[in-house]
Amino acid sequence: MKKKVTPALRQYLELKEQYKDAILMFRMGDFYEMFFEDAEVAARELEIALTKRSFGKGGEKAPMCGVPYHAVEGYIAKLVKKGYKVAVCEQLEEPKPGKKVVKRGVVRVITPGTYFEDESEDRFLMAVFPASRGRFAVAWAELSSGDFLFTTVDAQGLRSLLNKFRPKEVILPPGVKLPLVKEELPAALVQERDYFKPELKLPDAADNGELSAVNAIYRFVEETQKEFVPKLKSPRRYTGERYVYIDPYTQRNLELTEPLVENLSRDTLFSTLNRTKTGMGRRLLKFWILHPLRSVSEINRRLDAVGELKESFLLADELSELLSGVYDVERLVTKATAGIINPKEMASLRASLKALPKIKKLLESFSSELLSQLASTFDDLYDIYCELERVLVDSPPLSPKEGGLIRKGVHPELDELRRIKENAEQIIREIEERERKRTGIQSLKVGFNNVFGYYIEVSKPNLHLVPSDYIRRQTLVNAERFITPELKEFEEKVLSAQERIEKIEYELFKELRRFISDRASRIVETAEKLATIDVLLSFAKVARDFNYTRPEVGDFYEVEIVQGRHPVLERSLQEEFIPNDTTLNREQFFLLITGPNMGGKSVFLRQTALIVAMAQMGSFVPAESARIGVVDRIFTRVGASDSLSRGLSTFMMEMVETANILKNATEKSLIILDEIGRGTSTYDGMSIARAVVEYICNRIGAKTLFATHYHELTELEGQVRGVKNYHVCVKEVDGKVVFTHRVKPGPSEKSYGIHVAELAGLPEEVVERAREILKSLESGGRKGSKSLTYSAGSSELPLLQVAQKRVEYGSGPNLEPEVEKILREIAQVEISTT
Ligand code: ADP
Repeated sequence: MKKKVTPALRQYLELKEQYKDAILMFRMGDFYEMFFEDAEVAARELEIALTKRSFGKGGEKAPMCGVPYHAVEGYIAKLVKKGYKVAVCEQLEEPKPGKKVVKRGVVRVITPGTYFEDESEDRFLMAVFPASRGRFAVAWAELSSGDFLFTTVDAQGLRSLLNKFRPKEVILPPGVKLPLVKEELPAALVQERDYFKPELKLPDAADNGELSAVNAIYRFVEETQKEFVPKLKSPRRYTGERYVYIDPYTQRNLELTEPLVENLSRDTLFSTLNRTKTGMGRRLLKFWILHPLRSVSEINRRLDAVGELKESFLLADELSELLSGVYDVERLVTKATAGIINPKEMASLRASLKALPKIKKLLESFSSELLSQLASTFDDLYDIYCELERVLVDSPPLSPKEGGLIRKGVHPELDELRRIKENAEQIIREIEERERKRTGIQSLKVGFNNVFGYYIEVSKPNLHLVPSDYIRRQTLVNAERFITPELKEFEEKVLSAQERIEKIEYELFKELRRFISDRASRIVETAEKLATIDVLLSFAKVARDFNYTRPEVGDFYEVEIVQGRHPVLERSLQEEFIPNDTTLNREQFFLLITGPNMGGKSVFLRQTALIVAMAQMGSFVPAESARIGVVDRIFTRVGASDSLSRGLSTFMMEMVETANILKNATEKSLIILDEIGRGTSTYDGMSIARAVVEYICNRIGAKTLFATHYHELTELEGQVRGVKNYHVCVKEVDGKVVFTHRVKPGPSEKSYGIHVAELAGLPEEVVERAREILKSLESGGRKGSKSLTYSAGSSELPLLQVAQKRVEYGSGPNLEPEVEKILREIAQVEISTT
C-alpha cells in the first residue's frame, strides 16, 4: 500500500493530516481539487460531479471533485455557510520542468466565524472561558467590521449574549461543557485545542479570564487566517450595566430584530426603524435596538440630535444623500488590512472618502450636543482621499495583477513602458504595410493570438508569393500563418513590457494598500461616527414619516403613554390602527387586562414595551405624547405557543421563564405577562397566576402589564396594592362580537369566547351546545365556590402538588437540575387564598 503512494498524494495526505476537521481544497493548476471523504462531502453539498483520480500508474484511485480557481470564492462561501471549515491550499512556487511536485501549503482556513468576506450577515466569533463561581469570561469579534468586545457574565448573561450576537462559531477550552442546551450554541464549536493561554497584555481587561478569552480570539484568527489576518479594533469592554437588560425570550417575543416563525409579514422593529444608508449604520442600528440605554443623559443626547435632524430636515436630507454614496468603509478597510482588497473596492473606498469633507461641513451646521461633538471630532480623511485619487485610475479593474489600475504620472518607468506598448500597434501596422509592399500580397495581415504571439497571415491563393524568410507556424482552412525573426524580437519586447507593467502596477497597488492599512484606525474611527450619524438620521426620518413624538425621558417611576401605537403593526395593518393609553404610576403599576381573545391585549402589551424600549434607544415613539421613567430591564412572557422549545413542555417552559422574571426583576423593571398559567389545569394555572401577581406587587413593585383569561383575578384590584383592572372593549352587534381594540379601565364584563368561536366558523350546533353548557356552569358556579366548580381533569398536571412533594421527598428522576430548582421555587411561593 505504502509503495503506491505518489509524491503528490503523499503531499496531500500530509497536509490533510494537519487539517482533519476542514475540507482541504488542494490547488492543482487551474483547479482546486478535493479527495476522498472531502470530495464526497463537497460533491454533495456543492452539487458538482464526483469523479475518480489515480495517483501515478496503477496507484490508488481516489474519489475526487474540483472547482475552477476563478470561481472558488462562491464555492467556499457555500461550504462555510453550511457550517464547514475550508482549508485553502495553494501552490507556493511556479511549476518547473523536471521537478515532480510543486511546493504547496495551506494559506488560510476559512471557518464559519472567520469568513469575513461575507457581506450578507454579521459573523461573530466568540470565545468562552469558564471563570470562577459559575461566571464566564467572554470575548467576541466580528472580523469583517473589526468589532471586538469582551466581558464577564453568569450563565444567564451568556445566554443573552449568545442570543444577541448569534456567533457562528464558539471557541471553548478542551473538555469544558457549558450549562446550556445544544440549540443555544452554534453548530461550529472549536474545542480540540487550547487557545486560551493568557499571553497578551490588554489595558482594559481586569482579570485573567477575560484576558484568556480575548487571547483565544487573537490566536484562533491568526492560526486560521495566517497571512490574511484582518486588523481587529482594540477590544472594548461590553458594559452590560449601561444597557437595558433584555433576555432572549423578550428579544424574540418583541421581535426586535428577527420575526417569530408565525409572523407572516416578517416585519421586525429593526425593519420598521431601518432607514440607514450604510452597512455600518445598519450594524449599529441593530446594536442600538438590542441595547437600549439606561442613562437618562445619554438617551437625551440622542433624542436632542434626532429632534434637531427631524426639524432641519432639508439639511438632514442632504446629509442622508451624501451617506448614500458611502460604502461599507469598515469592511473595506478590514479587507485592506487583510491584504485582500481589490482595486475596484479601493475605488469604492475612495468614493466614500470623497463625501467626507462635505459631511463634516454639513454636520457643523447643527447645534445639538451629540451632533456638534461628532462634527468637531470628525476626521474627514482628506489626505487619504487625495492619495487614492492621485494613484488609482477612475474605474480600475477587479484584478490588481493585470495592470490598468495606476494613473499616468505616478511612476516614470511605468509611463515609459506604456508608451512602448501603445506604440506597438502603430509599429505592427507599419510592418504590415511594409510586408505587403515587399511581397505584393495585398491581403497580408499581421495579427496576434495567445498561442503563437504575433504572426503574418497569408491567404491560400497567395502562398506562392511568400518569401523564404517566413517561417510557417499554423495552417488554417483558407490561410497559413508565419512568423519572422523580426516579429519575434518585437513580440519579446512588447510582452516583457506588459509583464513589467503588471509587476510595477501590482507593486504600486500593494504600496497603496499598505498606506490604507497603516491608517486603518483613523478610517475606522470616522466610520464609527458615520454609523452614528446614519442611525440618528434613520430615527429622524422614521419619526417624520410616521408621526412619532419625542418622549420625555427621566429618572422617575411613571410611564405615561398617550395614544400609543404599535410601531410595527400600525404599518402592516390593513385596517386603521386604534391607539391606546398606558398609565403606570405608584398607585397603579400592575395593569390587569381582561377581555376576549383577539381583543387586542397582546398588541397593547407589546406596544407598551416597544415604546419604552424605543425611547431608551434614543428614538422618537409612535404616540401622541410619552413620559418614560427609564427602566433597567424588560421582561416578557407572551403567548402560550413558543417556537423555542428546549425539550421541555410548554408549561414547564413558561414556568422557567416566569421564575426567571421573578428572580431578576427590580422596581425599575418593566414586565409584560400574557396568559401565564394556561398550560396547566385551571386551578393550578389560576393559583400560580395569582401568586405571581401578589409576588410582583408586594415584593418587587415592577411596572407590569398582565393579560389574563382568569376573570377571577380581577377581584385583586383593591386587595393587592398597585393592581388596576383594564379591559379590551367589544361591542355586540346582533349577537355577534365586534372588537374595538380600545383599552379601558375596569374589568371585562363577560367571557366572549363563544362568540369568538362562532366568528371563527365553528359549526352552529357546537356553538349552541357551548352556550347551554356555559349557562349551566354559570348558574352552578354561583352556588358553589366563587371561582370554578368543575374539577381539573385527572390527566392534567397538578403542578403545585408535584412541586410540594418534591420539596418534601427530594428530587425525582428525569428532571434537569434547572427545572428541579424552579419546581422548588414555585412550591415555595406563598399562595394567598383570600
Ligand atoms: P388578544 O391578545 O387579545 O388575543 P391581539 O392583541 O393578538 O389579541 O390582537 C388580535 C388582532 O387584533 C391583531 O392581530 C390585530 O389585527 C388586531 N388589533 C389589535 N389591537 C389593535 C389596535 N389597537 N388597532 C387595530 N387593530 C388591532
